[in-house]
Amino acid sequence: MRLQGKTAFVTAAGQGIGRAVVQAYLAEGATVTASDINGDLLEGLGLAEVMALDVTDKAALTREVNAAKPDILVNCAGIVHGGTLAEASDAEFDFAMNLNVRAQFHAMQAALPHMLERGGGSIVNIASVASSILAAPGRFIYGTSKAAVIGMTKSVAVDYVKAGIRCNCICPGTVDSPSLHDRLRATGDYDAALKAFIARQPMGRIGTPEEVAALAVYLGSDESGFTTGQAHILDGGWAAG
Ligand code: NAD
Repeated sequence: MRLQGKTAFVTAAGQGIGRAVVQAYLAEGATVTASDINGDLLEGLGLAEVMALDVTDKAALTREVNAAKPDILVNCAGIVHGGTLAEASDAEFDFAMNLNVRAQFHAMQAALPHMLERGGGSIVNIASVASSILAAPGRFIYGTSKAAVIGMTKSVAVDYVKAGIRCNCICPGTVDSPSLHDRLRATGDYDAALKAFIARQPMGRIGTPEEVAALAVYLGSDESGFTTGQAHILDGGWAAG
């Protein structure tokens, strides 16, 4: 059991990557607090307690992270806004920065005192390869917010490396999840959009949430004890060149 004796706090655990992370963490022996804005989605995970939590509610997020005192914090909540610079609105920009960036900042800040007291911890932020690594077309707001996640991750890693706290992020390419299918449908031509998404990943397929969860297990566990401040790419070869 690679996470035996560790407690983990996971946001947006109801579906997609977050849910797969919770399942993998439980399988590796971690004690997990799983949260999602839609608490009903957490049914079926086999947890004693499920928690409805909107990560943009700073007071609630801070309270719940304080209660869990996690060794591992997995910040998964995030939303994809489509559109170019010309199409971006202030409201969408604010929404994305609050959800994709500010909530990770608040969750990390809440977990920090507990990790400092314990002399260590591991933070895993979910970013995206569409960020400072590469630009996906029509992802102006999204890419900006995920680039901020990478910057935030590196900053935390540098400031707390001596305290034994590691902070890494995962940068997935396109991964199968319920919201991906919503985005494909929203294009108006699901099949063509799916084909285009697959085509940009040289391995010729989209990734699975379980593949992302496997990396999150590694980063949460002591096996990854020598890595911090890194943007770990998992994208079917998209960013390889
Ligand atoms: P998803 O988008 O299908 O599900 C997201 C989950 O987040 C849902 O369960 C939803 O209820 C929850 N959620 C939404 N707003 C919330 C809030 N304010 N507070 C708490 N929970 C909230 O899942 P996904 O596609 O696996 O995405 C998860 C993360 O992975 C996101 O940060 C996303 O940007 C990132 N990501 C996804 C892909 C992909 O292709 N799927 C690629 C790169 C990065």
